[in-house]
Parts: sequence; structure tokens; C-alpha cells
Amino acid sequence: MLQDEVLVLGGGVGGCAASIALARNGRAVRMIEREPAPRHKVCGEFLSGEALEDLSALGIDVASLGAVPIDYVRLAASRRAAEAPLPFPAKSLTRKTLDTALIAEAIEAGVRIERGRSVQSFTRSAEGGWQARLDNGELCEAPTAFLATGKHDLRSHRRPDDPQRWVAFKMYYRLAPAQAAELAGASELMLYPGGYGGIQPVEGGIANLCWVVQQRHLARADYRWDRFLLKMQEKCPHLAMRLAGAEPLLEKPISVTRIPYGYLRPRTEPGLYCVGDQAAVIPSFTGDGISIALHTARCAVTAYLAGQPAPLFQPRLRSALLLQMRLAQFAAAGINNGPARAILPFCLRLWPGVMQVTARLTRVAAGQAALASQTIAG
Ligand SMILES: Cc1cc2nc3c(=O)[nH]c(=O)nc-3n(C[C@H](O)[C@H](O)[C@H](O)COP(=O)(O)OP(=O)(O)OC[C@H]3O[C@@H](n4cnc5c(N)ncnc54)[C@H](O)[C@@H]3O)c2cc1C
Repeated sequence: MLQDEVLVLGGGVGGCAASIALARNGRAVRMIEREPAPRHKVCGEFLSGEALEDLSALGIDVASLGAVPIDYVRLAASRRAAEAPLPFPAKSLTRKTLDTALIAEAIEAGVRIERGRSVQSFTRSAEGGWQARLDNGELCEAPTAFLATGKHDLRSHRRPDDPQRWVAFKMYYRLAPAQAAELAGASELMLYPGGYGGIQPVEGGIANLCWVVQQRHLARADYRWDRFLLKMQEKCPHLAMRLAGAEPLLEKPISVTRIPYGYLRPRTEPGLYCVGDQAAVIPSFTGDGISIALHTARCAVTAYLAGQPAPLFQPRLRSALLLQMRLAQFAAAGINNGPARAILPFCLRLWPGVMQVTARLTRVAAGQAALASQTIAG
């Protein structure tokens, strides 16, 4: 059995960010990631201003990786669309490219990475630390652990069920040249009954279409993603226009189920810091999940290094993120709500202004979270 100072479970955005920061601060870190190599993940791949700042601080130069600038957002519902400039710098980059760069940075920082190994069980050790049993039977043990398994729950640390039963899909397309030109520099949010979707350009001259739908709406399309995609286009002709003549680049979309949007972990156990989606799951349309994963990882590492116990840190992190989360949920409820859709044409007229205000409000909240984390760690 190997003994480390810190075990990090999950090598996505939050796990890598925490591992890099811990290793740079001289800690012996072992990170366990179940995939042998980064692969496509369900994600809109929008990087907000905060995410870009955190990535740059970690030494990730997204521009050199081919990240595409995103300057404005467009909202499309029914037959209408409205757009607004983004009040902060943003980019898009595929998760495969981003995760590859983060893993490389973690190796460079001295993190010992166990790839292609899945954590099967995770329990307190007799000494009061944490032990993880891997799928090859190996037991890893450390006094402190960071839980960063993202959308996937470990059996011993399940988040509450997702009552709306969300299903999310991602597909890459090569758009027809005229559509690619119209989409350049934009992230488009599309609304339809039962969910919403986003399309935006990513590196390599292709576009990412990512969409979420409540299971009961997917059931009406016989649980078939292709039928549901046709329904989406019927309800949102803007999407039909974007996909006209587009070439799908994956055999079928990748998908993920059970996304507990709005979840904020209220507490944790001694020696266990929870980051990324294991700490907070913000509605996808905000494009803030990566930023929150990076932010919560940074806050947790600061708290750990300052000797702040995890059971004190986790509820304070929750309080710091509460306003941002509730605002996002409020907006998500509005766009998923049938009666609210009836006033969408009116909302679309207001959209540019609303977008700017909402973005500012959520950024202020993020700023407060940053301040709170300093206090937490202080
Ligand atoms: C539809 C959709 C669209 C989204 N769009 C955006 C967007 O445009 N912009 C944005 O910022 N955010 C977006 N998000 C959110 C974002 O993807 C997540 O918030 C972010 O990836 C969370 O990072 P994480 O480190 O917690 O998890 P991840 O990055 O998913 O990493 C978790 C890692 O843990 C590993 N793992 C899981 N289980 C085990 C195990 N048992 N043993 C070992 N390893 C394990 C996984 O393989 C994975 O690599 C979107 C989410 C969804 C669902």
C-alpha cells in the first residue's frame, strides 16, 4: 500500500487544478483518474472570464491550444433571436484539449497520476484518514482527500437524486460555410419545451452542440436523441437553420444522465474537501461550471494549506456560492417554465439588457465567493 499526503479522486478540471496547486506547494499528491486518456465529455466548452484567469494562473495558455474567442451571446426561441455582447472576455476550447493540457501540467508539477484506474470504494481508514480501493484491488491511503469525480458519484458519497431527471447530450458538427460564418464569435442559447441547448464554435473549425432535456420530454420522443433533435429544430427554427447542411462528426452524441442542478454540498467529513461538481452544480446554460470547478479547487487548497478543517470549509464555500447558484436556478426555472415561454417574445426584446445585468450580478457573486474564500482560509 502506498501512503501519500493527499489523494485526489478524479482528474478532470477540479481534480487537476487542486493537484497542481497542492504539488506546487510541496505536497505529495496522488491523483486517480479512471480514463486512461482524456476523451470527449458532455460540456458546452464555454470558458468564462474567471475560468480563463484561473487557467492562466495554473500555467494553461488556452490561446496556444487554439481556444476560440467568444464575444457575444445570442438567445433564440421559437422564431426569434436576440443578441448581446458578453460583458467579460470568453473563449471556447474542447474538453479533450483542455483536460490533456491540465493533466500535462499536473505531471509537470510532480503529481503522481494513476490513469485508467477507477475508485471502487472510498472509506475512512483506521488511522482517521481516507482510503480508496481501486479497480485493480490496490489500496491507496492518505490523511487528506479531495473528492473531484465530477458528475459521477462514489457509492459512499452520493449526492441527492435529480428530481427533474435531466439528460444531456453533446455532438460536434462541421457547419455549412455560411452557418459557420454566422456563428463565428458567438455562443447561441436555444430554448425549446423541456430544456435548452447551446451551439458555439470550438477549435479546429467545428461547432459544439450541447443540449439538455428532462427525461419525460425525451420519453415523448421514444427516448431517441435523433427524434428529439428533430423536435428541437421544429420548435426552434434557428437551430434548424444552423444545422442545415451540417456534417455530424461523432457517430452519435455522447450523453450523461442524472445532473443534480442546483446542488450545493452542505457539509463534509474531516479530511475530505469536495470540489467541482461534487461541491456545486450550476445550471449548464450559465457556462460557469468549469469556472466553479477551478474556483472551488483553489479555495479548497487554500483552506487545506492554511490548516482549515474540511468540515468548516465546506459550509462556508456553500454560503459563498449560494447567491450565484440561486440566481442561476431562478433564470433556469424561467426558461424551462411553460407559462414563462408565452412571454418569451417580450423577454427577447429585453434580452440584451437582461443578459448584461445577469452576467454582472453573477460575476459580483463570484467575486464575493473569492473574498469569502480568503476569509475562510485566513
Ligand atoms: C450539458 C452540460 C453543458 C455544460 N457546459 C459548460 C460550459 O459550456 N462551460 C462550463 O464552464 N461548464 C459547463 N458545464 C459544466 C462543466 O462541465 C462541469 O461543471 C465541470 O466539468 C466540473 O468539473 P469537475 O472537475 O467537477 O468534473 P469533471 O471535469 O467531469 O472531472 C471528473 C473526473 O473524475 C473522473 N472520475 C469519475 N468517477 C471516477 C472514479 N470512480 N474513479 C476515478 N476517476 C473518476 C472522471 O473520469 C472525470 O475525468 C456543462 C455541464 C453539462 C452537463
